[in-house]
Amino acid sequence: MLREQAAFVCDHVFRCARPVLLVSHARGDWQLLCGADHPNDPDDDSWVHLVGLNHLLDRDSTLRAVMDLPIDWMAERVSVGAGWTRSSSPDPVE
Ligand SMILES: [Zn+2]
Repeated sequence: MLREQAAFVCDHVFRCARPVLLVSHARGDWQLLCGADHPNDPDDDSWVHLVGLNHLLDRDSTLRAVMDLPIDWMAERVSVGAGWTRSSSPDPVE
């Protein structure tokens, strides 16, 4: 069982407008994003929401496949149900 853990999601994922297509574990923080464009301004975090990781896993069980992602790695997929492509990510996803 995963312990209760927080994850950052973009506004699209937060509103269930788009599925999670990009998972980042940069610097030990979980980020679950839709993969679309988001504001590039590091000072603009209005599109970021903090939610419980387990709620996201309940909504989309295919995310469990990447919950063993090492810190500073990321995983992408083209659609829900598609395979994940993992890569080490020295730069945090912005
Ligand atoms: Zn988004």
